[in-house]
Amino acid sequence: MYQFLPAIATAVIVLLFFIWKGKSQSKFGINLKRVICPVCKTKQPVIRMPHDLQQSLWGGTICPKCGTRLDKYGNIIS
Ligand SMILES: [Zn+2]
Repeated sequence: MYQFLPAIATAVIVLLFFIWKGKSQSKFGINLKRVICPVCKTKQPVIRMPHDLQQSLWGGTICPKCGTRLDKYGNIIS
């Protein structure tokens, strides 16, 4: 059992790193909160299909109601 502890500790540190990055809205972060479209206030689905390569790499979505491109933090991409 104890031989797995370094691997578990590393996994936890990596996860915390991505959550911490998400708080500063870094490209490498993850966002655990649901995104709300700033234009029409529609809640975006939690599970979403990426529309292009950039979205599959970095996250983000296109609002199904108004078609606004959003990043994974809900900011408008122009
Ligand atoms: Zn919208």
